[in-house]
Amino acid sequence: MKKIGFFLTLIVFLLAFPRLGFAASADTHIYLDGLELSQPSNAQAGNVKGSVMVPIRVIVEGLGYDVGWEKASGTVTIKQGDTELKLLIDKDQALVGDQSVTLAAAPFLLNNTTMVPLRFVSESMGLKVSWDNKEKSAYLYSPEGGAAGEILPGKGTSLPSDSGETMVNNPEQEQGNGYITETTAHINGVSFSDNKLMIAVDRAVQPNAFAMFGPDRIVVDIPMASFGETFALDSANKGELLVTDNPAVSKIRYSLFDSTTSTIRFVIDLNSSSQFAITNAGDGLVIIDLAGQSTSPNLPTESNGTRVVLIDAGHGGSDPGTSSPTRLEKDFNLAIALKVEALLKLEPNITAVMNRSDDTTLTLKNRPNLANSIKADIFVSIHANSVDKSVKTNPSGTETYYTREDSIALANVIHKHLVQATGLNDRKVRQKNLLVTRETTMPAVLLESGYLSNSFDEAVLFDPIAQDRIAAGIVAGIKEYFGL
Ligand SMILES: [Zn+2]
Repeated sequence: MKKIGFFLTLIVFLLAFPRLGFAASADTHIYLDGLELSQPSNAQAGNVKGSVMVPIRVIVEGLGYDVGWEKASGTVTIKQGDTELKLLIDKDQALVGDQSVTLAAAPFLLNNTTMVPLRFVSESMGLKVSWDNKEKSAYLYSPEGGAAGEILPGKGTSLPSDSGETMVNNPEQEQGNGYITETTAHINGVSFSDNKLMIAVDRAVQPNAFAMFGPDRIVVDIPMASFGETFALDSANKGELLVTDNPAVSKIRYSLFDSTTSTIRFVIDLNSSSQFAITNAGDGLVIIDLAGQSTSPNLPTESNGTRVVLIDAGHGGSDPGTSSPTRLEKDFNLAIALKVEALLKLEPNITAVMNRSDDTTLTLKNRPNLANSIKADIFVSIHANSVDKSVKTNPSGTETYYTREDSIALANVIHKHLVQATGLNDRKVRQKNLLVTRETTMPAVLLESGYLSNSFDEAVLFDPIAQDRIAAGIVAGIKEYFGL
């Protein structure tokens, strides 16, 4: 990543005079795609003349932007992609690219921390911002985040440790270290594709599956289990997967069914009765196959030596991803993922596993969990990009993202083929802190074939011939990476 100016983390800077009219509040919260960002304790967000001002550290750590600081002129430069903002301490004029903008409130210094106007910075960067005055909370939504949020910021978002059940102090454990003994299995992910419910677990479990009628449903009870801490649950500790275009299944629900036996129950709500088969090989995955096959053709086996590719079609179901005036990103992602899967099925040495193969809603955190559970060799997440209307530039082109070093080689080789396939601008391989490429345990890339906000790119992305080319390019990259 290109560093600009002088890299800023926390600059020691003396404040010459106290700030008037700044109502800082320890109760102010900032959420990005539903996750709260942490703020430095000595410089909490607050309100100036109706503008929410936030410590710049929130921008650096939480939103992952590059921030530069030029002390002599008091200039803060914030950069993300093609967008560059310049703000001056105590000046209400800012620059977005070359354009001058008047701010409702000027940036200032508070306890050695630069405070910047949240709405201006966020919206200039293409985030949507809403402010709940009663809750004193700012809600930011990234264009790639959808409801669930693809961009999980780094350390700025780490949840307090008391959210993990292993940290609960158990008074009955006399000699313990305060950690509950790990006797239960964690359920780390759930997905539904190809008529199969796949439940990712971190140790062997003894599930009990049975059919119930009126209405038709299949129940899967997993005793001695708890939801992993990354599992998506609502406030009542329940969750569901909406299955929108499967004729047999309407939705999948899950909850803690019985707390004394610590039984987690999954319910597949059916539109009509269906047979099913359960596969529980003790390998981290429990599969309930409605097609009634006891073994899954998609399941990799460690012995046959094939390479396992997890194809992650971004978004889906109630999360459309980004959009153009007439098209949804989730549809592009699924079309490409299905074409990639079809091509990989022709490869004897590659096993393709799909995170979703229809318009299913799949939470973000489930995506890496499934890949990790089946020990996929690589993880390929398929997306399309966009910029918000408020962004003055209209980028076009193909980008490939990775997070960890071990993914660079995969990113480079797929990107080479992908750029050739789209025929769009080469916007390069980029590093970014994205949840799916960070939380996976194998080389992982996220592909942004083009920009739906750009009408030229959009026409390419939804052209069936170009889609075939894009899928073939991704497959060529995968094969070259594996040396096949
Ligand atoms: Zn996306």
